[in-house]
Amino acid sequence: MVDRPKVVVVGAGFGGVQVARSLLGAPVDVTIIDRQNYTTFQPLLYQVATSGLPAADVAYPVRGMFPRQDNVRFRYGTVVGVDWDARLVQLDGQEPLAFDHLVLAAGAGARWFGVPGAAEWAFPLYTLDEASHLRNHIVQQFEAAEVVPERIDDGVLTFVVVGGGPTGVETAGALSELVTKVFRSDYPDLDVARARVVLVEAQDSVLTALHPKSQAAAVQGLEERGVELRLGESVAEVSRSSVKLSGGEVLPAHTVVWCAGVSPNPLAETLGLPTGRGGRVTVSPDLSVVDRPGAWAIGDVAAVPDKDGMPLPQVAPVAMQSGRHVGRQIARLVTGRGTQRFRYKDKGTMATIGRRDAVADLPGGLHLTGTIGWLSWLALHLLYLSGVRNRVSVLLNWGWAYVTWDRPRLILRPQRR
Ligand SMILES: Cc1cc2nc3c(=O)[nH]c(=O)nc-3n(C[C@H](O)[C@H](O)[C@H](O)COP(=O)(O)OP(=O)(O)OC[C@H]3O[C@@H](n4cnc5c(N)ncnc54)[C@H](O)[C@@H]3O)c2cc1C
Repeated sequence: MVDRPKVVVVGAGFGGVQVARSLLGAPVDVTIIDRQNYTTFQPLLYQVATSGLPAADVAYPVRGMFPRQDNVRFRYGTVVGVDWDARLVQLDGQEPLAFDHLVLAAGAGARWFGVPGAAEWAFPLYTLDEASHLRNHIVQQFEAAEVVPERIDDGVLTFVVVGGGPTGVETAGALSELVTKVFRSDYPDLDVARARVVLVEAQDSVLTALHPKSQAAAVQGLEERGVELRLGESVAEVSRSSVKLSGGEVLPAHTVVWCAGVSPNPLAETLGLPTGRGGRVTVSPDLSVVDRPGAWAIGDVAAVPDKDGMPLPQVAPVAMQSGRHVGRQIARLVTGRGTQRFRYKDKGTMATIGRRDAVADLPGGLHLTGTIGWLSWLALHLLYLSGVRNRVSVLLNWGWAYVTWDRPRLILRPQRR
């Protein structure tokens, strides 16, 4: 039997899954590796964190994702290195895996910008564990305040969201609705009106990558929901129970949600791949890694270039399109054809602020706000979710929450820090 070329994909996120899918029918054997046995729909993690959705709605088991693709296998494990001479991927506690093509699709994590105390005390929002941990923590703050209401003065009900990009805006808006619409009736003996949601953004507006009209609509939507905006300020220091702003003001706060920056997975450097500004892997126009034959990098971990060679933003459409592109290039190479350059199709940007309120900048200069923006946001997120079961479940959960304001606000794994 002739051995077929082996493709190993590191990471079963938005990008990695597309690499494997686009190799359907190609004469290769694909192994997709992930340190979790599920793929995570990161754009809805904030809903898990703010009790909008149960955790299982935004994750899908990787083994169930390729039912009709017999050239794909999944390996549950953590990649710790690569022997480039022997062409072996090294896994933590497992035998190495041989490869002919290696696709790095390992995503990103939080960037702390060297802010003292941030990595130690702020809550990042990249994994399901982190989102669940944050939800537990938020609900626990209200339980703690009910037992000792004086702790409100100490910041137990002050929630500081750092970063006014889509994730920060969505988190702040959802948190504010959780407090005012759900916790106000959950805790009738507590002065919930004293809870604060503060959004800190270093620039003079939120959603600065969007059109000024969308920015203004987002600011208005957040203010209407009672979110305190601290624009033009940054966080200078975080401690267990406070946040110091760049202007010197200290906010007592037991919860700091860090939505401020993206740092490519350090695996890129561990593997000795060339990296550029911000630590993203340097790739050629066809997305192969510069000076590493057989290696490719996609999604958040890579500096995926636009038509002018400038790095594209670290968002889901870039990860998915770059993943599909690399799968097709590998299929071309193994069938004796040359590679093509990557061309990105911009699908627009959107962010939800709360119930019946979202902003969307779509191709062709179309700007949607309010209910229409929100409906398009709902439709798009449902469309891109993995698995019919998840889509049905999310739709039911959203519908139920819309009618009743009921939320899955469970403390599932009480954790003390
Ligand atoms: C909270 C949040 C909200 C977002 N909202 C939006 C949005 O609204 N719209 C949008 O377009 N984009 C959004 N994004 C960005 C989008 O989710 C990312 O751009 C996208 O997930 C990147 O895809 P990826 O395949 O590069 O990485 P990921 O989807 O992060 O997948 C990486 C995978 O690699 C695995 N992995 C990492 N290291 C290892 C290792 N050593 N061994 C094995 N496996 C490993 C991880 O477990 C993970 O499954 C959001 C991101 C976050 C965090």
